Amino acid sequence: MEKSIIIVGAGIAGLSAGCYARMNGYKTTILEMHNIPGGLCTAWERKGYSWDISMHMLTGSCSGPFYRMWEELGVVQNREFYYRNEMARIESLDGKTLAFSTDRKKMEDQMLKLSPADAPLTREFISLIFGRDMMKAASLKPNELINFFDSLKTWPVILPLMGKFIKYGKQTFQNFADRFQDPFLKQAVRFFIDSPGWPMLKFPTVALAGFMKSAVIEAGVPLGGSQKVVFDIAELYKNLGGVIEYKCRVKDLIIEDNHAIGVKLDDGSERRADITIWAGDGHTLIFNILGGRYINNRIETIYREWIPVKPIIHVMLGVNLDLSKEPSRLIFELEEPITIAGEEHRWMNAIHHCFDPGSAPAGKSAVEVWYATDYDYWEKLSKDRAAYKNEKKRIAEFTIAQLDKRWPGFTSQVEVIDVPTPATYVRYTGNWKGSPDGWYITTDNMRDQAPLRTLPTLSNLYTIGQWTAPFTGTVIAALTGRQVMELLCKKDRKRFVTKK
Ligand SMILES: Cc1cc2nc3c(=O)[nH]c(=O)nc-3n(C[C@H](O)[C@H](O)[C@H](O)COP(=O)(O)OP(=O)(O)OC[C@H]3O[C@@H](n4cnc5c(N)ncnc54)[C@H](O)[C@@H]3O)c2cc1C
Repeated sequence: MEKSIIIVGAGIAGLSAGCYARMNGYKTTILEMHNIPGGLCTAWERKGYSWDISMHMLTGSCSGPFYRMWEELGVVQNREFYYRNEMARIESLDGKTLAFSTDRKKMEDQMLKLSPADAPLTREFISLIFGRDMMKAASLKPNELINFFDSLKTWPVILPLMGKFIKYGKQTFQNFADRFQDPFLKQAVRFFIDSPGWPMLKFPTVALAGFMKSAVIEAGVPLGGSQKVVFDIAELYKNLGGVIEYKCRVKDLIIEDNHAIGVKLDDGSERRADITIWAGDGHTLIFNILGGRYINNRIETIYREWIPVKPIIHVMLGVNLDLSKEPSRLIFELEEPITIAGEEHRWMNAIHHCFDPGSAPAGKSAVEVWYATDYDYWEKLSKDRAAYKNEKKRIAEFTIAQLDKRWPGFTSQVEVIDVPTPATYVRYTGNWKGSPDGWYITTDNMRDQAPLRTLPTLSNLYTIGQWTAPFTGTVIAALTGRQVMELLCKKDRKRFVTKK
């Protein structure tokens, strides 16, 4: 008889687990609190404009170890991807520009011209980001099943990088960027990876070494957007015989003698299964639902010391202007800064998706501006509806005025304004502190990447998704779903199958 599995959450991790579970003959039901699948991997649509969040860079879209997983999940077949020739362009008020070009020579020449005094460091930076990458050493296999021979296969990738491991050890990218003497270069290079404590080298996925190749040149943007990708995975899951129930919020686990035997829903009903897979927010499960009863030192350390990725307030704009000739990601210095949630922002991060014809009506552009912000501030403000609305309005007006300086006439052409905040993220996905991507990867947690798959002394419950390891993105979130199913097959003495 098929074993039954309940999966909580139809984000990319839950959908991935569901597909692999069906491929391997488990009876599955995904319970999702929202009325659509996708979680954070989604898009906003208003009046013909669509603002795609999530897959701005899909690692493994054309090659590498993750390509196989995306192929199994039907993501890469029959889909076009856009490959950037520029990751972002930085512009200062005094007219200096640096484009993070995917052309090695172009990027190096710009940096050398901007600051000849920084030539040695520029060359070091360029040779790192365009150099050998560690991605080839990554594996779809769970750590628990990796044997000596699997490790041996990674040595040809790792050995040539040993010198770099020794040189950079526990260095952060931010410390590295601070070594540039030229003030503009110092600032601009920091935007290359805008994440605190980012390790220079991280094994085995994305690191500074080879970043341009693995995270930009070979990481496409799916045309049609992230939401289309998840809708297609949800369709595959249903075609495999899986069941998804929407508007079902799980509020509790049913536990007997430290075995998870099912879940309780908001409406008071119960669903029982042999196995429960939690693909939703980690903090909600561990601390709110389980009241911190199933934790150990590692889990305590994670929740005490790791840093959740800062939430974002977006200003989404639909504008009757064709920005397709403009950089698709522009970071420019502001004449006057803006303070949001007590933090001053001197640079504006504007993105458009004109490369995707589905993102806006012909000749128009969907523009998105991000400000990383503080969660507690927005949570508190969202309780006072008038103040919340006014603050969003202030930020939107400021943003539009700055974009008007960069693109004169912008203000009069704005047709749609939408301002989702960290509180919006929580409302739609339940993610702790509105985090868009779980935990930051830092030099402190980079060695502790084994995904948190189970909780101590609680059997039949597995955890997957963006809270189970640092810096997951959609790739590792989906991978954790695949790996848990591979481990369950091993436990049930089944051969792990990855086809229909
Ligand atoms: C602005 C932005 C840009 C990003 N850029 C990239 C990028 O370029 N590349 C990349 O790979 N990743 C990117 N990411 C990150 C990526 O989208 C996420 O890491 C990933 O989608 C997380 O998937 P998940 O399934 O782990 O979690 P989620 O997407 O949070 O899914 C969890 C699901 O569980 C449901 N749920 C939660 N609690 C319950 C409950 N109690 N009962 C029922 N259902 C519940 C939620 O509604 C949700 O659907 C970006 C994210 C954002 C927001």
